[in-house]
Amino acid sequence: MRPATQCRDIARAKPSVTPGPHEGVAGAGFIVIERSRIETGAALIALRTHQLADLITKENPSLIKRCMGAGCSLWFLDRTKAHRRAFCCPTACGNRAKVAAFRERIRSKSTDKTPRRK
Ligand SMILES: [Zn+2]
Repeated sequence: MRPATQCRDIARAKPSVTPGPHEGVAGAGFIVIERSRIETGAALIALRTHQLADLITKENPSLIKRCMGAGCSLWFLDRTKAHRRAFCCPTACGNRAKVAAFRERIRSKSTDKTPRRK
């Protein structure tokens, strides 16, 4: 069997994951989170294999990007309209980059001895 055929076969196969109970409370101020219940290691591998096959066969490879966060090794699928996403998570790596840029600006201003115009 050729690798492309194997990928297609895996992508078509549905992993046997049963939907788990809902968490949280529906209503004002609460969020309902639905999680799948994975009973065995084989079910987890099947789920991840299915997700990987979906990524390979259905998504544009140029939109799979490495996070620009310092020290971050994660990759992500850029589904933004402009395809200019740079970080895996805006609240983690994106925020850290903003804080680092802010500190760098403060540091460069404090070492800058030239007088400022008012
Ligand atoms: Zn990251």
